[in-house]
Formats: sequence, C-alpha cells, structure tokens
Amino acid sequence: MQIFALVASLALTLAALFVLVPAVRSMLRVIRMGQPASPSRTGDPVARTVTMLKETVLHTRMLQWTWVGIMHWFVFAAFLFLSTAVVGAYVQLFDPEWAWPIVGHWYPFEWFSEFIGALSTVGIIWLIVYRQKHHPRSEGRKSRFFGSTFWQAYFVEYLALLEGAAILFIRGAEYRLADDEHATRAHFPLSSWLGEALYPAGQGANENLVYFIAFFKIALAMVWLIVIGRNLTMGIAWHRFTAWFNIWFKRESSGRTALGALKPLAVDGKAITLEDLDDLDEDAALGVGSIENFSWKGLLDFTTCTECGRCQSQCPAWNTQKPLSPKLLMKGLREHTYLKAAGLAGHTDRALIGKGDAGGESYNPEGADFVVDADVLWSCTTCGACVEQCPVDIEHVDHIVDMRRYQVLIESNFPAELNQVFKGLETRGNPWNMAASARMDWAKGLPFEVREVGKDLESLESVDWLFWVGCAGAYEDRAKKTTRAVAELLHMAGVSFGVLGNNETCTGDSARRAGNEFVYQALAQENVETFKEFKVKKVVATCAHCFNTLKNEYKEFGIELEVVHHTQLLNRLVREGRLKPVAPEPGTSTRSITYHDPCYLGRHNQVYSPPRELLSALPGASYVEMERNSERSFCCGAGGARMWMEESLGERINMNRSTEAVGTGADQIVVGCPFCRVMLSDGVTALQAKSEAREEVEVLDVAQMLLASVKAGETATEPEKAPAGAPNASATAAAAATPAAASGASGAIGTSLFDEAPAKPVPDGSLFDQPAAEPTAPAATSASLFDEPPAEAPAKPTTGGSLFDAPAPETPPAPTTTGTTSLFDETPTETTPPSSSLFDPPAPETPPAPTTTGTTSLFDETPTETTPPSSSLFDPPAPETPPAPTTTGTTSLFDETPTETTPPSSSLFDAPAAETPPAPITKGTSLFDIPADEAPEPAAEAAAKRTPSGSLFDVEEEPVARPEPEAETAPEQQEAPEKPKGLFDL
Ligand code: SF4
Ligand code: SF4
Repeated sequence: MQIFALVASLALTLAALFVLVPAVRSMLRVIRMGQPASPSRTGDPVARTVTMLKETVLHTRMLQWTWVGIMHWFVFAAFLFLSTAVVGAYVQLFDPEWAWPIVGHWYPFEWFSEFIGALSTVGIIWLIVYRQKHHPRSEGRKSRFFGSTFWQAYFVEYLALLEGAAILFIRGAEYRLADDEHATRAHFPLSSWLGEALYPAGQGANENLVYFIAFFKIALAMVWLIVIGRNLTMGIAWHRFTAWFNIWFKRESSGRTALGALKPLAVDGKAITLEDLDDLDEDAALGVGSIENFSWKGLLDFTTCTECGRCQSQCPAWNTQKPLSPKLLMKGLREHTYLKAAGLAGHTDRALIGKGDAGGESYNPEGADFVVDADVLWSCTTCGACVEQCPVDIEHVDHIVDMRRYQVLIESNFPAELNQVFKGLETRGNPWNMAASARMDWAKGLPFEVREVGKDLESLESVDWLFWVGCAGAYEDRAKKTTRAVAELLHMAGVSFGVLGNNETCTGDSARRAGNEFVYQALAQENVETFKEFKVKKVVATCAHCFNTLKNEYKEFGIELEVVHHTQLLNRLVREGRLKPVAPEPGTSTRSITYHDPCYLGRHNQVYSPPRELLSALPGASYVEMERNSERSFCCGAGGARMWMEESLGERINMNRSTEAVGTGADQIVVGCPFCRVMLSDGVTALQAKSEAREEVEVLDVAQMLLASVKAGETATEPEKAPAGAPNASATAAAAATPAAASGASGAIGTSLFDEAPAKPVPDGSLFDQPAAEPTAPAATSASLFDEPPAEAPAKPTTGGSLFDAPAPETPPAPTTTGTTSLFDETPTETTPPSSSLFDPPAPETPPAPTTTGTTSLFDETPTETTPPSSSLFDPPAPETPPAPTTTGTTSLFDETPTETTPPSSSLFDAPAAETPPAPITKGTSLFDIPADEAPEPAAEAAAKRTPSGSLFDVEEEPVARPEPEAETAPEQQEAPEKPKGLFDL
C-alpha cells in the first residue's frame, strides 16, 4: 500500500504541476491583456491589506446572507487548513505516525483540526442542500443559481465534502496508531469515535489506512488542481485564489464598495477630461468597445466571479424579467475574454455589444456575433445592488457604464430616447428641455423671500447653505412640492440659505450614467465654476442623484464641498429642537407610512438612518418597513438614466416596487428623491387605476411629511423661530426649551452633524410605538394632507399623476431611425453618415448605412452645409451639411419628427476650425467653451450673461413626455419579496 500510495501520489502531483503551472501563466497573461488600472488601486497598502483580511478571514461581505456566510466560513477555513493537511499527508506517506512539530499534539491545534473538519462537512452538506432547494428547476429565473454552471458547482461541492471528511477519517486512523499518551479523547475529541467504530485494532492495518487516506487527500487536491487548471473560467473554484487579489485591488482602499462616484473615463489608466481630447491617440478607446479595453482589474473581476448569483437575486432588471443579470454579464464577459485570448475562432472578431433577436435568450446570446446584447447594457439602473451584494467586490456598475461610454462616445449607438435628453442637457442645462428662466418658478408665492446669488446675495459666504434645487426640484411639479417644503422648513428653523436660480444647471448625473461623459464634464465644469465664483462651501440637495454627484464626483474638478441630503439636515434640525413636529388633533386617525430607500442615497451613500429617524419623530403615524429595505432596497427604476428611457421589456420596475409598497398597507409611501417620487407615483396611480391600490395611498417626500407636522404646531414654535438668514445660535436655546429634543440633541454631542446616530429616545406616540403592519383607517379624501399648494396651480397631471404622463403635445409619431448627423440632432436625415471615430478624417464618400440604431459618432468631423442658428450650445459653426442618414430607430415618445430639412447642427465634438477663437460664456455658445483655467467672472457679469431675457433659454417648451405606465399591462407574475421560511431559505 505504501509503495502504491507513494507512486500514485507522485504521479498525480507531477500531472497537476504539469497542468497548473501553464494554466496560471495563461491566466496572468489574459489578465495582463487589460489596460492599466488607476494607480490608486495600489495606494494605501496597509488599509488594503486590512480590508482584504477582514473580508476574507472574517467573511464580512459573505455574512450579508447570514447562514450561507457561516456555512461558507467553515468550508473556507477547512480549505485553508487542508493546505497544511495535504503537506502533512506527503510526510505521512513515509511516516504514518508523523505529527507536526510543536503543535502536532497541542490540544488547541488538534481540536481545531477536528472541529473544522466536522463543521466544514456540515457546512458543505448544508450548502449542497441549499443549492438543490433553490435550483432553477423549481424556482426558474427567481433562483440565484439560474444560469450558473452546475457541473462546476457540483464538482467543487463534492470535493469539498470529501476534503472535510478526509480530515476526520485520517485522524481516526492516527488515533488507532497513537501511543498510549496520545490515544485519548482529549487529543482526538471526534475522530477517536470514528476510529473505534470503523478501523480495526493493529499497527499494520492502521498504517495502511493512513497511507491510503494520505494518498486519498493528495489525490483529491491534485485532481482538483488538474480540473481547474484545464478550466480557467471556473470562477467557483478559482476564486479561492483570485478573490484575495480582487479584494486587495478594489477601487476604494477604505474598503467601501465601488459605489457613489463612478470610475472616471480613462485611457491607459489615466483619467480623461475634455481638455485631453486633442492629445489622445487616434485609436484611443473612450470607454470599453472590446474586451481588451477593460482594465486588468476588470478582467480580474470577471475571472473571480463565483457565479453565486447574489447580485442576480437583487437586480431590479433581472427581477422584472429583463435580460440583464449582473452574474450572467460577468460570466459572459469572462468566457469571451478567455476564448478570445486563446484565439478561438468566432471570438477573435466577435463584437462586444450587439443587438440580437428579441425572441432569443438575450441574457445569454449563445452563438451570436456579439457578446452582450444592447438590451442587457441599457437595462441597468446603476442601482448598485449587485456591487453591494458581491462577496468578492466585483465592480459591475463601472464596467456597465464603461461599455455605455463607448457606445455613446464612439459608436453613437444608444436608445433613441436619450437624444432628446442629451440635447436638453446640452442646450438648456436640464434633461426636461425646459427654459432656464423657469428655474425659480417653484418659489413663487412663498411667504418669504428665497434669495438668489448674483441677485439678492453677492456670494454664498453670507448664508449657511446653498440650497441646490436640481432640475427635478425646479421643473417637475411633484418635486417642486418637496423643494418648497424644504425651503419653508429651513426658513422656519432659522437656517439661512441661498439658491443659484438661473445660474444652476444640471449636475450631469443622467448624462454620465448614460455614458455621455463629456456632456457630464461640461455641465460639471460649469457648475464648479459657479460654485467657485459664489464661494459655495456647504450644499443641501433634495435629489439623491444630485446629492451623490455633488458629494462624490465634483471633487474631481478641484472643489471640496460639504454636501448633505435634505433628510440629514432636517433630521439635525429636529434633533436640535429647531423644528418641532407635533401630534395631530385628537381624533385624527393614525396614518401608516412606509419608506422607500433611494439607491443613490442608501446604497451609494449609506444614508439609511436619517430619513427613518426623521419619520420616527412624526407623532400620529405608524411605520411599516418594506420587505426589501435599506441595503437590499429595490430600485424605483429611474437611475442610470433609465428615467428617460422607455421600459418595454418585462414588468415595469416601478410597478414591482409600488406593488410591494402598497402591499404594506401604508397610506403614505415616503421617498427622499424626486426620481423615486415620479416613478412610485406613476406606479401607485397605475395600481389605483386597476383597483389594486386604495385611492388614499399617496407618495410623498419626507420633507412634506415633516412640514405638515411642524406647521400643525407652528404657533407653539413661533417664539423660538429665528428670522431667515439668522445665525444658528438659536439652536441651543431651542433645544434646551424642548426636553425631548434636547435629549435627542445631546445624544449627538461630539459626533458629526450627519452621523447616522443611533435612534434617539422615541417620544410617546412616536411612530415606532405603533403596531407595525396594521393598515389604518383610510383618510377621508384622496388629497394629501401633506401637499403644499403651490402659489400657482401647476399643470395638472394626467391620469398617471405624473408630469411625464402627459402626452407631449407636439410630439409626433416616432421615426424609425438609425442615424442622425449629430449625437443630439433632433431630425433624422435620409442617408446615414459613416459611423466613424472621434479622430476619423472626413470621409470622402458616404458608406453604407449601419443596421443598428446608432447615429454617427459623437466625434465625427462631418461637414455640414449650413449652420443652424444656435441649434446647440456645443455646436461650433460647421461649413457644410452632411448627407441625411436613413434612420431605423425605435419608436419613442422622445423621437423627433422626421423632417425634410434638417437643422444642420454639427456634432458635439466636431473639431472647430483652427482659426475659430474660443467662444465666451454667452448665450448660444458651448458649455465646452468654458476655459477651465480662466478666472471666474464677476457675479454681476456672470448673472447678466445668464439673464434669460432674449436668451436661447427663454423659449418655453413643454417638458418631454415620459411613457405612461401601462396600467392595463399587469405583470404576469408578481415577484413577492422572498421570505425566509426554513433553514435553507435563508
Ligand atoms: S446596478 Fe442594479 S440594475 Fe444594474 S446590474 Fe447591478 S443590480 Fe442590476
Ligand atoms: S458578480 Fe459577485 S455576486 Fe454576482 S455571481 Fe459573481 S461573485 Fe456572485
């Protein structure tokens, strides 16, 4: 037996080395195919090492799924231990009684060996049963294992089972061989029972058993290595090695997930700005157009994916029957990477993005001539649920946006609806295409003056906060109510603030997440110049998207801001006693409320407690949490510029979420973001139209809830109110005057103003004192008690209750387009210009029209014949009109009427003639013309330049229509949030 064990073990070991060494070299070569990553990936090595050890040894991210995490930890620990056990097995082939020096007979080591062997066996059995219980054959697409490679999972599971059990079996034989001093239960607490039950007494037999089991352990390990060496895409096995590196090189050395800010657009690992465009090589890829354009960290991400499907289980797109699964996306990219690297025919020339047959399985386009279906790419809401869930820190959102960037910036191939959005951002600084002069309409009729910089204020230095209104807060009727409510609350609390008025322009969130990096950068640069000009330091925003962009992304433009969300600031004011919610009149029925976490407030910025704490301070309301909340909250469907795109695949995301919210029995669904408010309002309205929601249910912002409650007690608080613009000194007195508030405030002493402090003592009658899930009596009328009537009646929403639901009066039927002359041209023309690159010279001839929905490149230097009168701020004068392209775009409310005479606006990035001087920042010039290093203009001058009178922005237009929720198209299958039912449901 010994000879056999020795020879067989040696042969297997050599075979494993023969396979594994070249495999590792191949894997490294494939990963090195990627572009350089940002140098920050190696910064702060100590913090990175701590993060890596925390996430691996402590399983901090795995434990988001508690029981799965615990069971996986046993298997993980056994794997680490087995590495030493295999080394020991080689020695035991020569000396069956061998034990590790020093620790070999040390009780803690022996006990750890035995218990980890036993617990890993239990753990892997639990995981095997779990996988079977949640198998796609019973759960279909709802299974997180849908699409995972099952033979690989089974191979790893059963080998892990044998590995764990082998530890116990070999120790049982060792017990039989041990001398009297060591052959005790104290040294062999578990395996002694096994040894006595299974193995015969006698030296020779047990020596042979040790030889055999040592060989068996070695054989398991070597077979495992041979199999994974032959399958480099077997992430479920390889992650045991690659996860350590993937976590160490994660984007944030602090250990936080790759959420919040987006990864900058980079070429050769260097972030690219508008100023760098002229210096780029002709073939430089903006974004990711092929697998080689990903950074090496991206390729390491794909390699590391374990196919666990946690991301898939939380993805709003996947959960509403869309083709996007973050897991299958990573898996598909990995397969393609390795097959392309191996030079496999059919992969070397396969396009990264393509448009498949709508009837096909677009989540997994087998055999197609592309890797990722365009529907997959554009289904993402960038909600971050996948990134939040991934136990090995894969950065899905960055990869998805990088692919979108290439489609927009190089291919000009994106959903037709975005044309109008980009155009609105480019020419009017807002996606609604509304006039800048209407930005202050929200403040009309307020009983106090809202001060504008450049008009009523010289700079923001004289007030506490810049109140960032945002495009939605300025133009969208429902969001305007939030804006007014926040302004009123700040005024009542004596917090001084100013607004930018017409000097404000979109933060660029939607443009950036739709892949239009340069429109984002132009908007950001303009805002940053304004901030510098008006000395902005502290910003409060009501829109979660603006909040995220201002807080996390504008620092790339050289400005440091303190940015808070309005729920954080209002919560602080309540804690300090400067705002005092009061109980409703006796006899008023208690209202039930639930809160929807906006993704860009919660997952992207970890703000979960302030809105809840604020709601808890509202007396007379009972609070019920939705099943999917906080880190596992479900997106409303508007992020990632999805707000502006049609949602024609699967169930509407907002319907799914609205159904869940309505299912809580809440009277009020409370949000903290105007995008969420639009989406959920539309969803609730559609449900009400189908009689699936009570008429009383309404969607409100936290600020409106608070305002109604504070106003009810306005008389009581009046003496403590400071006038608008007063310093915050009144806070202490106010807090002292209110015991409950004072106690809450005292809890915050020494902490950051916006710390997610533990919930303060909840006063009697607080909402958490109420029974949670009990629906309460409906209100007498459907009108909200919390709606603040604006001074001027806003345009009445249509049945959908949404501004977006109103059919655009002027919008004609959508044309079928495939190309326009400019990225933002509204009018399709008859022949398609060449889809060339930024750096292409003007094509002498018109090539065949592309078959996709793309337009010509954003960067095409397409000459035009006549220049439209300021058709775009970005358009430099173009000498000639290109031939009109034939178009085949999707039918969209956003599509413009095809006309014969095309406004000859040239491309966004058309190279200006060499002699063209830089345009000043005046009406009709380009956002891109802002010289970054020029001194800011004086306030008055800047304001004058932005004066709406006679400006391009003065043209009043109807807002762009959003597709109306299809009340009649009920989701085929409503996916209820999963509730743990048993041990394996966890
Ligand atoms: S960001 Fe959200 S929508 Fe996009 S893939 Fe991840 S989970 Fe899905
Ligand atoms: S991307 Fe992450 S969460 Fe998704 S399947 Fe892969 S390892 Fe699991």
